[in-house]
Amino acid sequence: MRRVTIFGSTGSIGENTVDLIARAPECYDVVALTGGRNVARLAEQAITLNADLAVTAFEECYGDLKAALTGTGIEVAAGADAVAEAADRKADWFMSAIVGAAGLVPGLRALRHGTTLALANKESLVTAGPYLMAEVAKYGATILPVDSEHSAVFQALVGEDIDAVERVIITASGGAFRDWPLDALENATLAEASAHPNWDMGRRITIDSASMFNKAMELIETKEFFGVSPSKIEAVVHPESLIHALVGFNDGALMAHLGPADMRHAIGYALHWPDRGHVPVERLDLVQIGSLNFRAAEEARYPALRIARDVMETGGLSGAAFNAAKEAALDAFIDGKIGFLDMARLVDEVLNRLQQRNGLSCDILTLDKVLATDHLARMTTRELMRDTLVR
Ligand code: NAD
Ligand code: MG
Repeated sequence: MRRVTIFGSTGSIGENTVDLIARAPECYDVVALTGGRNVARLAEQAITLNADLAVTAFEECYGDLKAALTGTGIEVAAGADAVAEAADRKADWFMSAIVGAAGLVPGLRALRHGTTLALANKESLVTAGPYLMAEVAKYGATILPVDSEHSAVFQALVGEDIDAVERVIITASGGAFRDWPLDALENATLAEASAHPNWDMGRRITIDSASMFNKAMELIETKEFFGVSPSKIEAVVHPESLIHALVGFNDGALMAHLGPADMRHAIGYALHWPDRGHVPVERLDLVQIGSLNFRAAEEARYPALRIARDVMETGGLSGAAFNAAKEAALDAFIDGKIGFLDMARLVDEVLNRLQQRNGLSCDILTLDKVLATDHLARMTTRELMRDTLVR
């Protein structure tokens, strides 16, 4: 029996993980599930999977969760600290599927027990990549990528020498606006940005796909996870989302990973690793698919990609600043305070200001420095919104 804990079990990745585990209850002993405000669903999952502990990240939700689980014998806790403390309950495999920078600390805490962390929370690598990977080595832990592109690269690299890698190509669906005329993007609405053509995901990552901030994060994630130099990392638009990534080697070979647009594939790979096990996803019918298409990922359409290049070059604390500014700008877009293209303008400006004022390069990253930069970048984003950029 594998002892598993899911951080963010009620989200899109969390639900897909629960789905796989619920199909083979005899294989898993569920230690803890954590969620947010949807306590009814969290309680339902905890009962179905017979978890030891259910935690809501929000203290004001404690009463509702407690009431929903009374008489079940399932322990209940609430608050950000309680989420992180769930990492100390002995489990072998943790899924990190909280959205945003809030996912960093619980994942780090799990790694410090030398366990296996299946990492969907890309913000962990973007904000604190070098620190996170150093902690993995220090505590003899294992980290497995769950972002579909990175799972694809990971699988293409099995048995390969990383020094023979010439390039890593991350594919992008192009998001909701891939076919829009450039001058229409300025007025793109929240509803339009929240509809993904290929994937069914949480709202924040769906909007990040439309702006390509998601792909920008994934370029940085590639650098941090695999230690590949930024000049070897590319993005290409592939509207069908069937090839998730490709790795090019020094003999000209290009290894592509194909699969349906279903996150249970990458989650299942991490769940069964180092073996392969059955995963109930659709099998691709190549003849029916017929053809696959590729287009350049234009920086004029997707300024986030250019910003990601700057972040990869600067390294240090720029990832933490980038992610926090992006999260604050995304909140403002969701709240209707700024327009769609203002998000990239704001993030760019925050990075410029912090670079000039504070300097973002830094030789040794620590958690304190990352969290302080996160805080500063959020404040600077709000300051800037009050000044010039707001429409
Ligand atoms: P989601 O919004 O659907 O779910 C997020 C989960 O985190 C929920 O359980 C929510 O309750 C919890 N949560 C929210 N705020 C929290 C907080 N402050 N503290 C603790 N928990 C909190 O998100 P998602 O789409 O499942 O994405 C989760 C992570 O996986 C993100 O980092 C995302 O970028 C990454 N990811 C998602 C997909 C996908 O297909 N959805 C694909 C690749 C990577
Ligand atoms: Mg992805």
